[in-house]
Amino acid sequence: SGLHDKEYYRNLWETISRGGIFRGILVNKRKNGELFHEEKVITPLKDAQERITHFVSTGRDITARVLSEKERMQLVAILEATPDLVATLDPDGCLRYLNGAGRRMLGLGAQENIVGQCIKDLFPERIAQELILDAIPAARRDGVWSGETVLQVIGGKELPVSQVMLAHHNKHGDIEYLSTIARDITERKHYESELQYQATHDTLTGLPNRFFLADRFKCTMEHARRTGSFVAVLFLDIDNFKRVNDSLGHAAGDNLLQQVAQRLKACLRPNDTIARHGGDEFTIIINELKQVENTLIVLQKICAEFERPLIVGSQEVYTTFSTGIALFPHDGDQVEDLLRHADTAMYRAKSFGTGQYRFYAPEMNARGHEFLTLEAELRHALGHDEFRLYYQPQMNLRNGNITSVEGLIRWQHPTRGLLLPKDFVPLLENTGLIVTVGEWVLRQACKFHRTLREAQQNELCVAVNVSAAQFNDKDLLDKIRRALDEEGMQPQKLELEITENVVMQNSTHAAEVLKSLRAMGVRTAIDDFGTGYSSLAYLKRFPLNVLKIDQTFIHDLVYNAGDTAIVEASITLAKKFGLEVVAEGVESAEQYEFLRSHDCDLAQGYFISQPLPGIEFARLLQKA
Ligand code: C2E
Ligand code: MG
Ligand code: MG
Repeated sequence: SGLHDKEYYRNLWETISRGGIFRGILVNKRKNGELFHEEKVITPLKDAQERITHFVSTGRDITARVLSEKERMQLVAILEATPDLVATLDPDGCLRYLNGAGRRMLGLGAQENIVGQCIKDLFPERIAQELILDAIPAARRDGVWSGETVLQVIGGKELPVSQVMLAHHNKHGDIEYLSTIARDITERKHYESELQYQATHDTLTGLPNRFFLADRFKCTMEHARRTGSFVAVLFLDIDNFKRVNDSLGHAAGDNLLQQVAQRLKACLRPNDTIARHGGDEFTIIINELKQVENTLIVLQKICAEFERPLIVGSQEVYTTFSTGIALFPHDGDQVEDLLRHADTAMYRAKSFGTGQYRFYAPEMNARGHEFLTLEAELRHALGHDEFRLYYQPQMNLRNGNITSVEGLIRWQHPTRGLLLPKDFVPLLENTGLIVTVGEWVLRQACKFHRTLREAQQNELCVAVNVSAAQFNDKDLLDKIRRALDEEGMQPQKLELEITENVVMQNSTHAAEVLKSLRAMGVRTAIDDFGTGYSSLAYLKRFPLNVLKIDQTFIHDLVYNAGDTAIVEASITLAKKFGLEVVAEGVESAEQYEFLRSHDCDLAQGYFISQPLPGIEFARLLQKA
């Protein structure tokens, strides 16, 4: 009918003249002139000599189908052009079709095969779970589900999307397939978080604002309630800020506030919170305080940090704060109350001049004052030779000889007399000063051993106590090596006492240090055994030499069946693990006798001798 080009007919003719069957779609014209699509099959019929005699031609009007195919192509073209991800999935969530935008969002190439990819490959695990457990069942039930999710983009990144999931049913009501549309909402999310940030932060300093602080404060208190720790709220007001503003101008004032914010932030631990309360006021939340006095350590850090002036323009500005402090749970358990109390305390501080602090609860001020004075004096003590090492003997229970001695620190305070460790060692530990002071103790003990050797007391062992911070000091081994070297002391004569908790805190590190000490030949002891949370079965894994049973168990020995059993069992087990056993705090002949008859190795306590200054200890040895 001449509606196709010559090529088409030649092809047709060649096929059938070769005896083949032609199949094709022709566009034909009806009698009324209307065009239609015809699916044509032309089959040649042959005679006995294989000559073609007839053609059988069948035609089927397929116009309707061709049109719907065209519609489908149009739809696909539209889907391919949309900027949203469009996909169809089979009922168990495996991909059947994914449009171009979807491929681009997921970082898949146009040719990449998607067959076999499932929901769990397209979304981060937590989102895939949510879709499988919530979204798909909801779409099956209600026909449609929508929500905000994220896509897993190549390179591990996530792309936030707003997503719709539809379930398509066949005529029997079964689900035939699922379809989903997801729109990239990165920009909106960004905008939202920007808004969120602006609502919770101060634009000038970038610090959280008071609303954010209140929120954070609630969580902090919750945590403190669970762990039994304290929380301190500090309300800081810059002294004489108005003067800066008035004399240097508002821009300078703003700049000062920005610098103050940075410096304050640098004084805090990452999980403390600082906020700008408004104007020249800042609030700080210090959490996980074991002792309320530790608040003052932060205050001192701030003080030290602001000893250097701030440079504003070309001016040096010295900044001080008036600080009010309220404590949770001491001063209240509501955010508003605590902030108000800290504010009140700040005003009280201000009335005493610049650079002052006050606690809301008046009795805390005295304690704080004492604490700060003590700390300042402690820093001074080392340089002024105020520490003393006292020596307490340990007696061999088999032959009554003094074989070891423990060095115990004392502080000869200029006004308060001789102070015991309980009055200052915790503060040394909190301020980190213990590392330096501990090195002095070690040195002192080694020097003392030299004087003992000079007095022909060659067999004595000297023990010193080592705190957690010292034990974790990376230079500990070097310091010991140097002290031994310079004092000409055999490592076997030095013993380090650590508590169980030091071993428990970081057992891998502890094992390493103990191993190195063992290799050096230095002895190690577990001090105050029984007061911590470890067990002998646990401790036997570490290379140790001595077990010191805590004095609380010795105190009621003989009279308290429980303590007696603990001591007996400790001695037996320790021996089994090859440890030497020392009983601490032996005060009576009865205790001494019990320990001797139960095969304890050494005893230490007032029954034998109080801790003594070096000279007196030497005298005691001579008498023995
Ligand atoms: P610790 O190592 O368990 O020392 C034994 C403590 O028991 C000493 O107290 C000692 O005076 C006391 N004591 C000795 N015999 C008896 C007795 O018969 N009855 C009673 N009730 N107590 C007795 P001190 O000297 O007050 O030391 C207390 C703690 O301070 C020590 O306990 C130790 O943990 C720590 N310490 C002492 N000197 C140092 C040191 O140089 N560095 C470090 N990091 N800590 C030290
Ligand atoms: Mg000790
Ligand atoms: Mg002890």
